[in-house]
Amino acid sequence: MYYDLHTHTVWSDGELAPSALVAHAARAGVRVLALTDHDTTDGVDEAALAADGLGLQFVPGVELSVTWQGLTVHIVGLGVDVGNVGLKLALLGLRSKRLQRGQAIVQALEAAGLGDARAILERDGIVSRVHVADWLVTGGHARNRATAFKRFLTRGGVGYVAGEWAGLDEAVGWILSAGGDAVLAHPTRYRLSGGRLQQLVRGFAEVGGAALEVVTAGLDAGEMGRLARLAHRHGLCASVGSDFHKVLPWRSLPGGLPNLPEGCRPIWERWSLPSYVQEVC
Ligand code: AMP
Ligand code: MN
Ligand code: MN
Ligand code: MN
Repeated sequence: MYYDLHTHTVWSDGELAPSALVAHAARAGVRVLALTDHDTTDGVDEAALAADGLGLQFVPGVELSVTWQGLTVHIVGLGVDVGNVGLKLALLGLRSKRLQRGQAIVQALEAAGLGDARAILERDGIVSRVHVADWLVTGGHARNRATAFKRFLTRGGVGYVAGEWAGLDEAVGWILSAGGDAVLAHPTRYRLSGGRLQQLVRGFAEVGGAALEVVTAGLDAGEMGRLARLAHRHGLCASVGSDFHKVLPWRSLPGGLPNLPEGCRPIWERWSLPSYVQEVC
């Protein structure tokens, strides 16, 4: 895969340091890579330097946590100026909300008799449920991450604390003000009905969203085709991203995703990438 516009590092809930992510992507044949950690751009400088060294086109990005009609959705910002003061303040706010939610989760786990969980909060990057899940696995409370999420960290679990993130218009506004393009990440993962997904996409387009993530991990051709039509209907471009978090035995990502379906307008047509990069999609 030539483009990968959605990836994570240790600064959020990924496993690799930024330079290791870039090296991994380069080995997989990626030529244009975006780093889009959850609610932080702290990995961008290291990744940009590593990409420069390996001849990759690097796109600074971020994946913002948004609350839309009581539901958490993710908006990826691509090509953002990480020095933009408004964006920096917004990310500080989101990270502090994450820390507060983390503290509430730690208290809930301790109250449930699972032990001293404060170590979860002691990290440089953002505090995510993934770090709580890993703590539960290490402590023998869950077999693996998936079980930890299911048993403890989703609605009904003792460690579930609802997050209240940014508004959709707010998040898209921060991205636009920082000179970036907003992408609705993995639109099928919110388990919305067709009508509700249309509503989300319409709202996203109305506030200035640029693209839907049409190609992402785990979709079949039919699902990608539906997303391509949905993007077209709302005048949106299409993006491609693996949502890479860690090296898995069954998924050698980043890299390995199919090309965009016919008829999509790629998000990178909006950018001034060197012509040798633009030719291939
Ligand atoms: P948070 O943003 O802190 O609420 O955590 C959400 C993150 O947890 C997502 O970005 C995924 O990377 C990860 N995640 C969500 N559900 C699961 C699951 N069932 N198993 C493993 N990881 C998950
Ligand atoms: Mn994640
Ligand atoms: Mn996401
Ligand atoms: Mn992601």
